[in-house]
Amino acid sequence: MENRIYNFSAGPAVLPEEVLKEAREDLMALPGVGMSILEISHRSKTFDDIIAQTKADIKKLLNITDDYSILFLQFGASLQFSMVPMNIMPPKNLADYIVTGSWSKKAVKEAKRVGNVNIAATTEETTFNRIPKQDEIKLSGDASYVHFTSNNTIYGTQFKSEPDTGNVPLVCDASSDIFHKKIDVNKYGIIYAGAQKNMGPSGVTMVIFRNDLLERCSDDLPTMLNYKTHVEKDSMYNTPNTFGIYIIGLVAKWLLNMGGLDKMYETNKHKAKMLYECIDNSKGFYKGHAEKYSRSLMNITFNLPTEELEKKLITEALSAGFSGLKGHRSVGGLRASIYNAFPTRGVEDLVTFMNEFQTKNG
Ligand code: PMP
Repeated sequence: MENRIYNFSAGPAVLPEEVLKEAREDLMALPGVGMSILEISHRSKTFDDIIAQTKADIKKLLNITDDYSILFLQFGASLQFSMVPMNIMPPKNLADYIVTGSWSKKAVKEAKRVGNVNIAATTEETTFNRIPKQDEIKLSGDASYVHFTSNNTIYGTQFKSEPDTGNVPLVCDASSDIFHKKIDVNKYGIIYAGAQKNMGPSGVTMVIFRNDLLERCSDDLPTMLNYKTHVEKDSMYNTPNTFGIYIIGLVAKWLLNMGGLDKMYETNKHKAKMLYECIDNSKGFYKGHAEKYSRSLMNITFNLPTEELEKKLITEALSAGFSGLKGHRSVGGLRASIYNAFPTRGVEDLVTFMNEFQTKNG
């Protein structure tokens, strides 16, 4: 383990050990290149090959067709909250947003600067503890797109399948569950995800963009905020985050070597089930935040009977080698983020620790 502890952080988050080891190996010099990934030009043949291979592996993982472009941009998922409406809300200037947490609300705030927003559904009245059911989602019918957040990192809820939006392009913030299972990309207009949870380091955001939507992107937009620029220049209009893209490439290769996303999904379900069973079998000592049908496989959120006990568990857990269990400040309690790279063994050990903690303090 090389002195590594279990990292339950919501993001930046744990990366596969195999990826870290390979990056360490390559850090002095990429094989056959004699220079580090941190030192080479983004215009070099070496980097061309890295970005091309990374995109090819991502296409393979998600069965992405040539109808889509894969972009690697900067300024996080947060910039996508603005870029999406600036580029594809016109000409109708109306978009539907499904609000399932703080990140969806931030996306709405930016969209409102561009045009009209219809809140198609929100679960804020129950502290975002669930995903709205399809019949609760009131689409406006003539929106430019429908936006949703597939996994709500803070509240620990997740869509089990995409909302049905008919022919209206679906736009998804998949920052905290991209690559956790195979999805049908053909259902989407745009998928965006910050890399730092399930894909790589911070500082790079992947955007999967359906090419026919390019016709909506006005030439009047600032160059860097126009998807057209990045599609045409293959994410290299300016200097991209070369190191971040390289790590995403290693993670994509790791996922393929692991057996792909169907395999990853099985592991993710197994890991989450262990933790939810621990919560459900605790006779109310641990109380999950999310309604059962909305539970996330990535972020498991729960409370203890008192705040004092929550603090005690977090402190004792840290001494036992479990880091990052404190819940987000807006909901409190605890949150165990168990992304793809989080080892099954770490979940087993946390469950043992939680059972023992309950025996001592329950
Ligand atoms: N969306 C979701 C679902 C997130 O979890 C986060 C980050 N925690 C963001 C958006 C914002 O991402 P970034 O910090 O990359 O802008």
